[in-house]
Amino acid sequence: MGVEKYLGDSIFATSLSSVANWARKGSLWPYPYGTACCSIEFMSVMCSDFDIARFGAERPSFSPRQADLLMVLGTITYKMAPVLWRVYHTMSEPKWVICVGACASSGGMFDSYAVLQGIDRIIPVDMYVPGCPPRPEMMLDALIKLQQKIQKESLNDPKYQERSDYLQRIFEESDIEVKK
Ligand code: SF4
Repeated sequence: MGVEKYLGDSIFATSLSSVANWARKGSLWPYPYGTACCSIEFMSVMCSDFDIARFGAERPSFSPRQADLLMVLGTITYKMAPVLWRVYHTMSEPKWVICVGACASSGGMFDSYAVLQGIDRIIPVDMYVPGCPPRPEMMLDALIKLQQKIQKESLNDPKYQERSDYLQRIFEESDIEVKK
């Protein structure tokens, strides 16, 4: 007994974007880029009390090539910024970024010569989570809102093309030679 029982001879129509986005939003693989106390708060989000698995994002990845959700959790210094930039650009499209806490969003209380005053100075951000530290529920709320955003995205979104053009330009301007 399958779906035929319910659908009979009726026609089921949808768009490719809807199906792809539905799959994408329900199987996010987070890369926790934790540098300070916000990452400890993220650990509780992964545990059973808050259980991020309910939203299909329980599989953390510690390789950017196997992740599509970058979660920045903590203070980012100028020394650390190039590493974050590289991690972001190593992730393949489509990818999203959640910026967790005051430090990652704006430098927080560390208005100093050593601290980057917000990660959106070097990489694009999809969701910001305020607080110091944010409650685990706030991180889950950001994840749910990101899922809603993903569901509305188009597969022809120009942002993907713009990023692709940008990376192509960087590649062409580099000294890397491709042997044919
Ligand atoms: S926002 Fe607060 S809790 Fe989070 S890393 Fe900064 S100081 Fe720590």
